[in-house]
Amino acid sequence: MIDQCGRNIDYLRVSVTDRCNLRCIYCMPKEGLRLVDRCEILSREEIIRICKVMAQLGIKKIKLTGGEPLVRQGVPSLVENLKALPGIEKVTLTTNGSLLAPQMELLARAGLDGLNISLDTLDAACFQKITRRDELSRVKEGIKAALSFPKISVKINCVPLGLEEQDLCEIAAIGKDAPIHVRFIEMMPIGFGREFRGMSEEEVVSLLEKRFGKMTPYTGESLGNGPCHYYNIDGFTGKIGFISAISHKFCRECNRIRLTSQGYLKTCLQYTAGRDLRRILREGGSDEDLKKEILAALKEKPVGHEFLEKEKKDDTENLCMSQIGG
Ligand code: SAM
Ligand code: SF4
Repeated sequence: MIDQCGRNIDYLRVSVTDRCNLRCIYCMPKEGLRLVDRCEILSREEIIRICKVMAQLGIKKIKLTGGEPLVRQGVPSLVENLKALPGIEKVTLTTNGSLLAPQMELLARAGLDGLNISLDTLDAACFQKITRRDELSRVKEGIKAALSFPKISVKINCVPLGLEEQDLCEIAAIGKDAPIHVRFIEMMPIGFGREFRGMSEEEVVSLLEKRFGKMTPYTGESLGNGPCHYYNIDGFTGKIGFISAISHKFCRECNRIRLTSQGYLKTCLQYTAGRDLRRILREGGSDEDLKKEILAALKEKPVGHEFLEKEKKDDTENLCMSQIGG
């Protein structure tokens, strides 16, 4: 699918739930977030139907997300169904890792291609402060379980908050001996993320170089679907990546669209632009009707975000990241 700016859209992020077992301070409130009724969330058949139509239009890669996708029952069999769709080459999952270990075998058998595990700190007290939960040991078990399936690529995603106690060198060092790429994601001013300063790529690079020596840009073959750029560190097995949506804006190369757990097709993180695909499904619309709406939404995909502009526009997204899927 080519959008109005000539961008080839072949990557779909599918949120399967707005629920989560953690409460990361930059993503969800401590309490009081209105969770949507279960009947408002797309059923597995509805997800598969939309993905089938998306694949016919040119989507090749699907990432399952949430909330925490693994709080929803049946994710492994959903992976299997999505992998079987003609045109879908890769199905991956982004997870906080805490519920991963018991499901890892099933996910591998279902044909999962890759895992992004979100982990902001290896320090138990700092983990509790950031996620408001005591789940670090289960996340570590999840990472260990994932690494026992060498065909599945494993990446760690870390959001630097700018907290003194968040030791980013320790997180980067996960990729020293293990075949794991560690990626630092710039804090985005979405939802509760607006309350944090975060850290720029330059700040993180300078901090890591003080500990590990010069980092050299990686120029080999592509390591994923998206806008991450990577560096090598001498003596590291994995690479260090950066997804810097604010300081290194990459909207011109944007290849993605998002489906919320309620079936809203979002064409940009910052704006509400998109279409309600659930309405079409539940009103008995045909695959052709779905295609028409998807293509109409693409025509209106914003040129890029304007997070650095002070003025908030009427169509600025008000959802928080757990409701969008990151
Ligand atoms: N629960 C899963 C997880 O944590 O990976 C999937 C959903 S979560 C919303 C997806 C990703 O979004 C996580 O890596 C999380 O750290 C990131 N995220 C959440 N809020 C963010 C923000 N304001 N800026 C940048 N990344 C954010
Ligand atoms: Fe949950 Fe992921 Fe948001 Fe943390 S970042 S609260 S794990 S959805």
